[in-house]
Amino acid sequence: MNCIPPTLLIAGAGASGMLAAISARRAARELGVADERLRIVLLERNPKPGNKIAISGGGHCNLTHEADVKNLLEKGFLRKNEQRFLRHAIHRFSNADLLELFGRYGLKTEARADGRVFPVSGRAGEVLDLLRRMVEESAVTLVTNARVERLECGASGFVVQAGERRFEADAVILATGGASWGSAGTTGDGNRLAAAVRHSIAPVMPALAPLFFIAQPRPELVGITLRNILLVASADGATDSRRGDVLISHRGISGPACLSLSRSVAGFHASGKAVAIAVDLFPGHEASKLSAFILEEAARHGPRQVRTFLQRCPLAPERFDAPDASSAAETIPNAFADEILRQAGIDREVTMSGLTKAQRLGLVSALKRLALGAVKKVPLDRAEVSAGGVALGEIDPKTMQSKIHPRLYCCGELLDYAGEVGGFNLQAAFSTGWLAGTHAARSLIENRNPQPAQE
Ligand SMILES: Cc1cc2nc3c(=O)[nH]c(=O)nc-3n(C[C@H](O)[C@H](O)[C@H](O)COP(=O)(O)OP(=O)(O)OC[C@H]3O[C@@H](n4cnc5c(N)ncnc54)[C@H](O)[C@@H]3O)c2cc1C
Repeated sequence: MNCIPPTLLIAGAGASGMLAAISARRAARELGVADERLRIVLLERNPKPGNKIAISGGGHCNLTHEADVKNLLEKGFLRKNEQRFLRHAIHRFSNADLLELFGRYGLKTEARADGRVFPVSGRAGEVLDLLRRMVEESAVTLVTNARVERLECGASGFVVQAGERRFEADAVILATGGASWGSAGTTGDGNRLAAAVRHSIAPVMPALAPLFFIAQPRPELVGITLRNILLVASADGATDSRRGDVLISHRGISGPACLSLSRSVAGFHASGKAVAIAVDLFPGHEASKLSAFILEEAARHGPRQVRTFLQRCPLAPERFDAPDASSAAETIPNAFADEILRQAGIDREVTMSGLTKAQRLGLVSALKRLALGAVKKVPLDRAEVSAGGVALGEIDPKTMQSKIHPRLYCCGELLDYAGEVGGFNLQAAFSTGWLAGTHAARSLIENRNPQPAQE
Protein backbone atom coordinates (compact mmCIF):
# COMPACT_ATOMS: atom_id res chain seq x y z
CA MET A 1 0.00 0.00 0.00
CA ASN A 2 1.29 3.44 -0.90
CA CYS A 3 1.51 5.45 2.36
CA ILE A 4 2.82 8.71 0.90
CA PRO A 5 -0.03 11.21 0.89
CA PRO A 6 -0.76 12.82 -2.45
CA THR A 7 0.42 16.39 -3.05
CA LEU A 8 -1.64 19.10 -4.64
CA LEU A 9 0.56 21.96 -5.77
CA ILE A 10 -0.92 25.36 -6.54
CA ALA A 11 1.18 27.92 -8.42
CA GLY A 12 0.22 31.49 -7.52
CA ALA A 13 -1.25 32.77 -4.25
CA GLY A 14 -3.65 35.37 -5.58
CA ALA A 15 -7.43 35.41 -5.47
CA SER A 16 -7.92 32.16 -7.41
CA GLY A 17 -4.92 30.30 -5.92
CA MET A 18 -5.87 31.05 -2.31
CA LEU A 19 -9.49 30.04 -2.93
CA ALA A 20 -8.26 26.86 -4.64
CA ALA A 21 -6.17 25.99 -1.56
CA ILE A 22 -9.04 26.76 0.84
CA SER A 23 -11.62 24.81 -1.17
CA ALA A 24 -9.28 21.83 -1.66
CA ARG A 25 -8.85 21.48 2.09
CA ARG A 26 -12.53 21.95 2.66
CA ALA A 27 -13.39 19.23 0.10
CA ALA A 28 -10.89 16.88 1.76
CA ARG A 29 -12.29 17.52 5.23
CA GLU A 30 -15.82 16.98 3.95
CA LEU A 31 -14.72 13.57 2.71
CA GLY A 32 -13.37 12.83 6.18
CA VAL A 33 -9.73 12.95 5.09
CA ALA A 34 -7.27 14.01 7.80
CA ASP A 35 -5.13 17.00 6.84
CA GLU A 36 -1.94 14.94 6.77
CA ARG A 37 -3.50 12.65 4.15
CA LEU A 38 -3.48 15.42 1.53
CA ARG A 39 -0.58 17.83 1.22
CA ILE A 40 -1.47 21.19 -0.24
CA VAL A 41 1.47 23.37 -1.28
CA LEU A 42 0.89 26.94 -2.40
CA LEU A 43 3.82 28.59 -4.22
CA GLU A 44 3.99 32.36 -4.56
CA ARG A 45 6.74 34.27 -6.35
CA ASN A 46 6.30 37.42 -4.23
CA PRO A 47 7.34 37.73 -0.56
CA LYS A 48 3.61 37.88 0.32
CA PRO A 49 0.46 36.47 -1.23
CA GLY A 50 -2.35 38.51 -2.76
CA ASN A 51 -0.60 41.62 -4.10
CA LYS A 52 -3.39 42.38 -6.53
CA ILE A 53 -6.10 42.06 -3.93
CA ALA A 54 -4.24 44.67 -1.88
CA ILE A 55 -4.35 47.20 -4.74
CA SER A 56 -7.78 46.26 -6.06
CA GLY A 57 -10.51 48.86 -6.27
CA GLY A 58 -8.03 51.64 -5.52
CA GLY A 59 -7.18 49.91 -2.22
CA HIS A 60 -10.87 49.43 -1.34
CA CYS A 61 -11.34 46.02 -3.06
CA ASN A 62 -14.47 45.75 -5.13
CA LEU A 63 -14.67 42.04 -4.37
CA THR A 64 -17.83 41.11 -6.24
CA HIS A 65 -21.04 42.41 -7.78
CA GLU A 66 -24.57 42.23 -6.49
CA ALA A 67 -26.79 40.56 -9.10
CA ASP A 68 -28.27 37.16 -9.78
CA VAL A 69 -25.90 34.87 -11.61
CA LYS A 70 -27.47 35.46 -15.03
CA ASN A 71 -27.22 39.23 -14.73
CA LEU A 72 -23.79 39.06 -13.19
CA LEU A 73 -22.55 37.11 -16.20
CA GLU A 74 -24.24 39.38 -18.75
CA LYS A 75 -23.11 42.58 -17.10
CA GLY A 76 -19.62 41.39 -16.26
CA PHE A 77 -18.59 39.43 -19.34
CA LEU A 78 -19.54 40.86 -22.70
CA ARG A 79 -18.48 37.86 -24.77
CA LYS A 80 -20.90 34.97 -24.98
CA ASN A 81 -18.20 32.28 -24.90
CA GLU A 82 -16.87 33.75 -21.65
CA GLN A 83 -20.36 33.78 -20.14
CA ARG A 84 -20.86 30.16 -21.18
CA PHE A 85 -17.50 29.11 -19.78
CA LEU A 86 -17.95 30.86 -16.43
CA ARG A 87 -21.61 29.99 -15.89
CA HIS A 88 -20.99 26.74 -14.04
CA ALA A 89 -18.21 28.10 -11.83
CA ILE A 90 -20.22 31.14 -10.77
CA HIS A 91 -23.31 29.01 -10.13
CA ARG A 92 -21.26 26.61 -8.00
CA PHE A 93 -19.54 29.35 -6.05
CA SER A 94 -21.61 32.48 -6.49
CA ASN A 95 -21.31 36.04 -5.19
CA ALA A 96 -23.73 35.03 -2.41
CA ASP A 97 -21.53 32.01 -1.51
CA LEU A 98 -18.47 34.26 -1.45
CA LEU A 99 -20.09 36.82 0.85
CA GLU A 100 -21.44 34.07 3.08
CA LEU A 101 -17.97 32.50 3.37
CA PHE A 102 -16.23 35.82 4.01
CA GLY A 103 -19.05 36.84 6.37
CA ARG A 104 -18.30 33.81 8.52
CA TYR A 105 -14.81 35.24 8.94
CA GLY A 106 -16.24 38.56 10.05
CA LEU A 107 -16.15 40.55 6.81
CA LYS A 108 -18.96 43.08 6.57
CA THR A 109 -19.70 44.24 3.05
CA GLU A 110 -21.93 46.79 1.40
CA ALA A 111 -23.31 46.98 -2.12
CA ARG A 112 -23.26 50.37 -3.81
CA ALA A 113 -26.15 51.65 -5.91
CA ASP A 114 -24.41 50.42 -9.08
CA GLY A 115 -24.06 46.88 -7.68
CA ARG A 116 -20.36 46.96 -6.78
CA VAL A 117 -19.65 45.28 -3.44
CA PHE A 118 -16.92 46.54 -1.08
CA PRO A 119 -15.92 45.81 2.51
CA VAL A 120 -17.67 48.28 4.84
CA SER A 121 -14.25 49.18 6.22
CA GLY A 122 -13.21 50.26 2.70
CA ARG A 123 -9.95 48.37 3.23
CA ALA A 124 -8.69 45.82 0.71
CA GLY A 125 -6.25 44.79 3.44
CA GLU A 126 -9.15 43.41 5.44
CA VAL A 127 -10.07 41.01 2.60
CA LEU A 128 -6.46 39.99 2.23
CA ASP A 129 -5.96 39.38 5.96
CA LEU A 130 -9.06 37.23 6.00
CA LEU A 131 -7.86 35.17 3.03
CA ARG A 132 -4.46 34.67 4.64
CA ARG A 133 -6.17 33.50 7.82
CA MET A 134 -8.31 31.07 5.87
CA VAL A 135 -5.26 29.69 4.05
CA GLU A 136 -3.50 29.25 7.40
CA GLU A 137 -6.48 27.42 8.89
CA SER A 138 -6.55 25.17 5.84
CA ALA A 139 -3.23 23.55 6.76
CA VAL A 140 -1.63 24.70 3.53
CA THR A 141 2.14 24.93 3.11
CA LEU A 142 2.64 28.43 1.75
CA VAL A 143 6.04 28.93 0.15
CA THR A 144 6.79 32.53 -0.78
CA ASN A 145 9.61 33.86 -2.96
CA ALA A 146 9.07 30.74 -5.04
CA ARG A 147 8.62 31.60 -8.68
CA VAL A 148 7.58 28.55 -10.68
CA GLU A 149 9.79 28.43 -13.72
CA ARG A 150 9.27 24.94 -15.08
CA LEU A 151 6.45 22.46 -15.11
CA GLU A 152 7.06 18.93 -16.33
CA CYS A 153 4.36 16.44 -16.75
CA GLY A 154 5.21 12.73 -16.43
CA ALA A 155 3.18 9.52 -16.27
CA SER A 156 3.11 9.51 -12.46
CA GLY A 157 2.75 13.21 -11.77
CA PHE A 158 4.40 16.60 -12.10
CA VAL A 159 7.79 18.04 -11.38
CA VAL A 160 7.78 21.75 -10.62
CA GLN A 161 10.91 23.86 -10.50
CA ALA A 162 10.91 27.13 -8.56
CA GLY A 163 14.41 28.59 -8.49
CA GLU A 164 16.65 26.09 -6.70
CA ARG A 165 13.67 24.25 -5.31
CA ARG A 166 12.09 21.23 -6.91
CA PHE A 167 8.66 19.93 -6.00
CA GLU A 168 6.89 16.76 -6.98
CA ALA A 169 3.14 16.83 -7.18
CA ASP A 170 0.30 14.51 -8.05
CA ALA A 171 -1.87 17.34 -9.26
CA VAL A 172 -1.11 20.95 -10.16
CA ILE A 173 -3.35 24.01 -10.26
CA LEU A 174 -2.01 26.91 -12.29
CA ALA A 175 -3.33 30.12 -10.70
CA THR A 176 -0.64 32.56 -11.74
CA GLY A 177 -3.01 35.30 -12.90
CA GLY A 178 -2.87 37.37 -16.04
CA ALA A 179 -0.08 39.21 -17.78
CA SER A 180 -0.82 42.82 -16.93
CA TRP A 181 0.33 45.11 -14.09
CA GLY A 182 3.58 43.16 -13.94
CA SER A 183 4.80 45.03 -10.86
CA ALA A 184 2.25 42.97 -8.86
CA GLY A 185 3.96 39.72 -9.95
CA THR A 186 1.80 38.88 -12.93
CA THR A 187 3.98 38.70 -15.99
CA GLY A 188 2.30 35.91 -17.91
CA ASP A 189 4.34 33.06 -16.40
CA GLY A 190 1.29 30.81 -16.39
CA ASN A 191 0.90 31.15 -20.13
CA ARG A 192 4.47 30.00 -20.67
CA LEU A 193 4.06 27.12 -18.20
CA ALA A 194 0.78 26.00 -19.79
CA ALA A 195 2.20 26.33 -23.30
CA ALA A 196 5.14 24.12 -22.29
CA VAL A 197 2.66 21.33 -21.50
CA ARG A 198 0.92 21.76 -24.85
CA HIS A 199 -1.91 24.13 -23.99
CA SER A 200 -2.89 26.69 -26.60
CA ILE A 201 -2.58 30.29 -25.50
CA ALA A 202 -4.84 32.99 -26.93
CA PRO A 203 -2.87 36.19 -27.59
CA VAL A 204 -2.54 38.35 -24.49
CA MET A 205 -4.32 41.69 -24.74
CA PRO A 206 -4.61 44.54 -22.24
CA ALA A 207 -8.12 45.25 -20.94
CA LEU A 208 -9.55 47.77 -18.48
CA ALA A 209 -6.82 50.29 -19.26
CA PRO A 210 -6.69 54.05 -19.74
CA LEU A 211 -6.06 55.29 -23.28
CA PHE A 212 -3.30 57.75 -24.12
CA PHE A 213 -3.48 60.21 -27.00
CA ILE A 214 -0.70 60.48 -29.56
CA ALA A 215 -1.11 64.28 -29.52
CA GLN A 216 -1.99 66.01 -26.27
CA PRO A 217 -5.61 67.19 -26.00
CA ARG A 218 -6.36 70.93 -25.97
CA PRO A 219 -5.57 72.24 -22.47
CA GLU A 220 -9.11 73.61 -22.01
CA LEU A 221 -10.55 70.09 -22.31
CA VAL A 222 -8.33 68.63 -19.58
CA GLY A 223 -10.07 67.71 -16.34
CA ILE A 224 -13.53 67.51 -17.89
CA THR A 225 -15.79 64.53 -17.23
CA LEU A 226 -18.33 63.70 -19.91
CA ARG A 227 -21.17 61.78 -18.32
CA ASN A 228 -23.06 58.94 -19.92
CA ILE A 229 -21.84 59.70 -23.45
CA LEU A 230 -20.98 57.12 -26.10
CA LEU A 231 -17.25 56.60 -26.53
CA VAL A 232 -16.40 55.37 -30.00
CA ALA A 233 -13.19 53.75 -31.26
CA SER A 234 -12.75 53.63 -35.03
CA ALA A 235 -10.03 51.77 -36.86
CA ASP A 236 -9.94 51.43 -40.60
CA GLY A 237 -13.66 50.78 -41.03
CA ALA A 238 -14.09 48.80 -37.81
CA THR A 239 -15.71 50.43 -34.80
CA ASP A 240 -16.70 49.62 -31.25
CA SER A 241 -18.27 51.80 -28.59
CA ARG A 242 -19.26 51.96 -24.93
CA ARG A 243 -21.75 54.13 -23.08
CA GLY A 244 -20.64 55.67 -19.80
CA ASP A 245 -18.55 58.37 -18.15
CA VAL A 246 -15.22 59.49 -19.60
CA LEU A 247 -12.63 61.64 -17.88
CA ILE A 248 -10.18 63.63 -19.98
CA SER A 249 -6.69 64.09 -18.57
CA HIS A 250 -3.65 65.86 -19.95
CA ARG A 251 -2.42 62.60 -21.51
CA GLY A 252 -5.55 60.73 -22.43
CA ILE A 253 -8.84 59.40 -21.14
CA SER A 254 -10.02 57.12 -18.37
CA GLY A 255 -13.33 56.28 -16.68
CA PRO A 256 -15.65 53.28 -17.01
CA ALA A 257 -16.48 53.64 -20.73
CA CYS A 258 -12.80 53.98 -21.60
CA LEU A 259 -11.70 51.03 -19.46
CA SER A 260 -14.34 48.83 -21.03
CA LEU A 261 -13.47 49.91 -24.57
CA SER A 262 -9.72 49.47 -24.15
CA ARG A 263 -9.83 45.73 -24.92
CA SER A 264 -11.27 46.43 -28.38
CA VAL A 265 -8.77 49.24 -28.94
CA ALA A 266 -5.96 46.82 -28.09
CA GLY A 267 -7.47 44.32 -30.53
CA PHE A 268 -7.53 46.93 -33.33
CA HIS A 269 -3.92 47.83 -32.67
CA ALA A 270 -2.95 44.16 -32.62
CA SER A 271 -4.28 43.83 -36.16
CA GLY A 272 -2.09 46.73 -37.23
CA LYS A 273 -4.78 49.42 -37.36
CA ALA A 274 -4.52 53.00 -36.14
CA VAL A 275 -7.30 53.86 -33.69
CA ALA A 276 -9.13 57.19 -33.40
CA ILE A 277 -11.38 58.03 -30.48
CA ALA A 278 -14.52 60.15 -30.72
CA VAL A 279 -17.52 60.87 -28.51
CA ASP A 280 -21.21 60.89 -29.35
CA LEU A 281 -22.80 63.57 -27.15
CA PHE A 282 -26.32 62.56 -28.22
CA PRO A 283 -26.20 58.75 -28.06
CA GLY A 284 -29.45 57.03 -28.89
CA HIS A 285 -30.62 59.89 -31.13
CA GLU A 286 -30.27 59.71 -34.89
CA ALA A 287 -28.54 62.53 -36.73
CA SER A 288 -31.82 63.42 -38.52
CA LYS A 289 -33.65 63.89 -35.18
CA LEU A 290 -30.82 66.02 -33.83
CA SER A 291 -30.91 68.13 -36.99
CA ALA A 292 -34.67 68.65 -36.60
CA PHE A 293 -34.14 69.64 -32.95
CA ILE A 294 -31.57 72.27 -33.98
CA LEU A 295 -34.01 73.64 -36.56
CA GLU A 296 -36.73 73.92 -33.91
CA GLU A 297 -34.34 75.72 -31.59
CA ALA A 298 -33.37 78.11 -34.41
CA ALA A 299 -37.06 78.88 -34.95
CA ARG A 300 -37.55 79.51 -31.21
CA HIS A 301 -34.34 81.44 -30.48
CA GLY A 302 -33.12 82.87 -33.79
CA PRO A 303 -30.87 85.65 -32.37
CA ARG A 304 -29.19 83.30 -29.85
CA GLN A 305 -25.57 82.41 -30.61
CA VAL A 306 -24.96 78.76 -31.50
CA ARG A 307 -22.34 78.78 -28.76
CA THR A 308 -24.97 79.74 -26.15
CA PHE A 309 -27.31 77.07 -27.51
CA LEU A 310 -24.52 74.48 -27.04
CA GLN A 311 -23.73 75.67 -23.52
CA ARG A 312 -27.38 75.17 -22.55
CA CYS A 313 -27.73 71.93 -24.45
CA PRO A 314 -28.33 68.81 -22.34
CA LEU A 315 -25.53 66.28 -22.49
CA ALA A 316 -26.53 62.77 -23.56
CA PRO A 317 -30.23 63.44 -22.93
CA GLU A 318 -32.78 60.66 -22.87
CA ARG A 319 -35.13 62.84 -24.90
CA PHE A 320 -34.92 66.21 -26.64
CA ASP A 321 -35.97 69.07 -24.41
CA ALA A 322 -35.70 72.72 -25.18
CA PRO A 323 -32.32 73.62 -23.58
CA ASP A 324 -33.93 76.24 -21.31
CA ALA A 325 -36.42 73.72 -19.99
CA SER A 326 -33.75 71.27 -18.98
CA SER A 327 -31.62 73.57 -16.87
CA ALA A 328 -31.49 70.93 -14.12
CA ALA A 329 -29.91 68.35 -16.44
CA GLU A 330 -26.18 68.16 -17.09
CA THR A 331 -25.22 70.32 -20.05
CA ILE A 332 -22.40 70.24 -22.58
CA PRO A 333 -19.29 71.62 -20.79
CA ASN A 334 -18.36 75.16 -21.91
CA ALA A 335 -14.95 74.14 -23.18
CA PHE A 336 -16.62 71.56 -25.36
CA ALA A 337 -18.95 74.14 -26.89
CA ASP A 338 -15.92 75.87 -28.43
CA GLU A 339 -14.42 72.55 -29.52
CA ILE A 340 -17.70 71.55 -31.21
CA LEU A 341 -17.83 74.88 -33.07
CA ARG A 342 -14.21 74.46 -34.11
CA GLN A 343 -14.75 70.94 -35.46
CA ALA A 344 -18.00 72.01 -37.16
CA GLY A 345 -16.22 74.99 -38.76
CA ILE A 346 -18.66 77.55 -37.28
CA ASP A 347 -17.56 80.97 -35.98
CA ARG A 348 -18.34 81.86 -32.38
CA GLU A 349 -20.58 84.75 -33.42
CA VAL A 350 -22.91 82.75 -35.66
CA THR A 351 -26.52 82.80 -34.44
CA MET A 352 -29.05 80.01 -34.61
CA SER A 353 -31.00 81.74 -37.39
CA GLY A 354 -27.74 82.41 -39.25
CA LEU A 355 -26.82 78.73 -39.47
CA THR A 356 -26.61 77.54 -43.06
CA LYS A 357 -27.76 74.01 -43.89
CA ALA A 358 -24.15 72.92 -44.36
CA GLN A 359 -23.23 74.40 -40.95
CA ARG A 360 -26.20 72.68 -39.29
CA LEU A 361 -25.14 69.34 -40.75
CA GLY A 362 -21.57 70.04 -39.65
CA LEU A 363 -22.85 70.79 -36.16
CA VAL A 364 -24.85 67.55 -36.07
CA SER A 365 -21.85 65.61 -37.22
CA ALA A 366 -19.61 67.22 -34.55
CA LEU A 367 -22.19 66.46 -31.83
CA LYS A 368 -22.49 62.85 -32.97
CA ARG A 369 -18.76 62.24 -33.56
CA LEU A 370 -16.60 64.76 -31.76
CA ALA A 371 -13.03 63.68 -32.46
CA LEU A 372 -10.77 63.40 -29.42
CA GLY A 373 -7.74 62.07 -31.26
CA ALA A 374 -5.71 59.02 -32.16
CA VAL A 375 -4.49 56.84 -29.31
CA LYS A 376 -1.26 55.00 -28.62
CA LYS A 377 -0.97 51.24 -28.09
CA VAL A 378 -2.84 50.27 -24.94
CA PRO A 379 -0.26 49.83 -22.15
CA LEU A 380 -0.28 46.31 -20.66
CA ASP A 381 1.38 47.52 -17.47
CA ARG A 382 -1.50 49.95 -16.82
CA ALA A 383 -4.26 47.45 -17.62
CA GLU A 384 -6.21 46.12 -14.63
CA VAL A 385 -6.61 42.79 -16.37
CA SER A 386 -5.38 40.99 -19.43
CA ALA A 387 -7.55 39.17 -21.93
CA GLY A 388 -6.08 36.13 -23.68
CA GLY A 389 -4.37 33.23 -21.96
CA VAL A 390 -5.12 29.52 -21.69
CA ALA A 391 -7.71 28.61 -24.34
CA LEU A 392 -11.13 28.06 -22.76
CA GLY A 393 -11.87 25.14 -25.10
CA GLU A 394 -9.07 23.14 -23.48
CA ILE A 395 -10.44 23.47 -19.94
CA ASP A 396 -13.51 21.68 -18.59
CA PRO A 397 -15.76 24.48 -17.29
CA LYS A 398 -17.32 22.12 -14.73
CA THR A 399 -14.03 21.31 -12.98
CA MET A 400 -11.33 23.64 -14.39
CA GLN A 401 -9.51 20.44 -15.31
CA SER A 402 -7.22 20.51 -18.32
CA LYS A 403 -8.50 18.43 -21.22
CA ILE A 404 -4.89 17.69 -22.10
CA HIS A 405 -3.48 16.62 -18.71
CA PRO A 406 -6.15 15.21 -16.41
CA ARG A 407 -4.38 16.25 -13.21
CA LEU A 408 -3.63 19.76 -14.32
CA TYR A 409 -6.11 22.53 -13.53
CA CYS A 410 -6.13 26.20 -14.56
CA CYS A 411 -8.12 28.98 -12.93
CA GLY A 412 -8.43 32.73 -12.63
CA GLU A 413 -7.23 35.41 -14.96
CA LEU A 414 -4.75 33.00 -16.53
CA LEU A 415 -7.73 31.76 -18.54
CA ASP A 416 -8.80 33.49 -21.74
CA TYR A 417 -11.52 35.74 -20.33
CA ALA A 418 -11.63 39.33 -19.13
CA GLY A 419 -14.42 40.89 -17.10
CA GLU A 420 -15.70 44.43 -16.92
CA VAL A 421 -15.07 46.85 -14.05
CA GLY A 422 -17.36 46.14 -11.11
CA GLY A 423 -16.02 43.21 -9.09
CA PHE A 424 -16.49 40.68 -11.87
CA ASN A 425 -12.84 39.74 -12.26
CA LEU A 426 -12.30 38.93 -8.61
CA GLN A 427 -15.56 36.98 -8.52
CA ALA A 428 -14.48 34.95 -11.57
CA ALA A 429 -11.08 34.28 -9.98
CA PHE A 430 -12.70 33.23 -6.68
CA SER A 431 -15.27 31.00 -8.41
CA THR A 432 -12.89 29.25 -10.82
CA GLY A 433 -10.33 28.84 -8.03
CA TRP A 434 -12.97 27.30 -5.79
CA LEU A 435 -13.97 24.83 -8.48
CA ALA A 436 -10.38 23.88 -9.33
CA GLY A 437 -9.45 23.25 -5.69
CA THR A 438 -12.57 21.24 -4.94
CA HIS A 439 -12.21 18.97 -7.95
CA ALA A 440 -8.46 18.53 -7.72
CA ALA A 441 -8.74 17.45 -4.07
CA ARG A 442 -11.64 15.09 -4.68
CA SER A 443 -9.90 13.52 -7.62
CA LEU A 444 -6.70 12.92 -5.61
CA ILE A 445 -8.54 11.57 -2.57
CA GLU A 446 -10.72 9.23 -4.49
CA ASN A 447 -7.51 8.22 -6.23
CA ARG A 448 -9.26 8.38 -9.51
CA ASN A 449 -7.17 7.95 -12.54
CA PRO A 450 -8.95 10.61 -14.51
CA GLN A 451 -9.10 10.72 -18.23
CA PRO A 452 -9.00 14.03 -20.06
CA ALA A 453 -12.56 15.33 -20.33
CA GLN A 454 -14.15 14.68 -23.69
CA GLU A 455 -15.56 17.43 -25.88
C1 LIG B 1 -4.90 48.02 -10.08
C2 LIG B 1 -5.89 46.90 -10.14
C3 LIG B 1 -7.12 47.04 -9.55
C4 LIG B 1 -8.07 46.00 -9.63
N1 LIG B 1 -9.25 46.16 -9.00
C5 LIG B 1 -10.18 45.16 -9.06
C6 LIG B 1 -11.40 45.26 -8.35
O1 LIG B 1 -11.62 46.19 -7.56
N2 LIG B 1 -12.31 44.28 -8.53
C7 LIG B 1 -12.08 43.20 -9.34
O2 LIG B 1 -12.95 42.34 -9.48
N3 LIG B 1 -10.91 43.06 -9.97
C8 LIG B 1 -9.95 44.00 -9.85
N4 LIG B 1 -8.74 43.84 -10.47
C9 LIG B 1 -8.49 42.58 -11.20
C10 LIG B 1 -8.24 41.45 -10.19
O3 LIG B 1 -7.31 41.88 -9.23
C11 LIG B 1 -7.70 40.20 -10.91
O4 LIG B 1 -8.51 39.88 -12.00
C12 LIG B 1 -7.65 39.02 -9.95
O5 LIG B 1 -6.77 39.30 -8.88
C13 LIG B 1 -7.18 37.78 -10.68
O6 LIG B 1 -6.99 36.75 -9.76
P1 LIG B 1 -5.95 35.58 -10.06
O7 LIG B 1 -5.89 34.71 -8.87
O8 LIG B 1 -6.25 34.98 -11.36
O9 LIG B 1 -4.58 36.34 -10.25
P2 LIG B 1 -3.78 37.23 -9.19
O10 LIG B 1 -4.68 37.70 -8.12
O11 LIG B 1 -3.06 38.22 -10.00
O12 LIG B 1 -2.80 36.19 -8.53
C14 LIG B 1 -1.78 35.54 -9.23
C15 LIG B 1 -0.65 35.26 -8.26
O13 LIG B 1 0.29 34.41 -8.88
C16 LIG B 1 1.60 34.85 -8.57
N5 LIG B 1 2.48 34.35 -9.61
C17 LIG B 1 2.60 34.76 -10.89
N6 LIG B 1 3.51 34.03 -11.54
C18 LIG B 1 3.97 33.12 -10.66
C19 LIG B 1 4.94 32.08 -10.72
N7 LIG B 1 5.60 31.82 -11.86
N8 LIG B 1 5.16 31.33 -9.63
C20 LIG B 1 4.52 31.58 -8.45
N9 LIG B 1 3.61 32.57 -8.33
C21 LIG B 1 3.33 33.32 -9.43
C22 LIG B 1 1.45 36.35 -8.55
O14 LIG B 1 2.49 36.97 -7.86
C23 LIG B 1 0.10 36.53 -7.88
O15 LIG B 1 0.22 36.59 -6.48
C24 LIG B 1 -7.77 44.83 -10.36
C25 LIG B 1 -6.52 44.69 -10.94
C26 LIG B 1 -5.58 45.71 -10.83
C27 LIG B 1 -4.23 45.52 -11.45
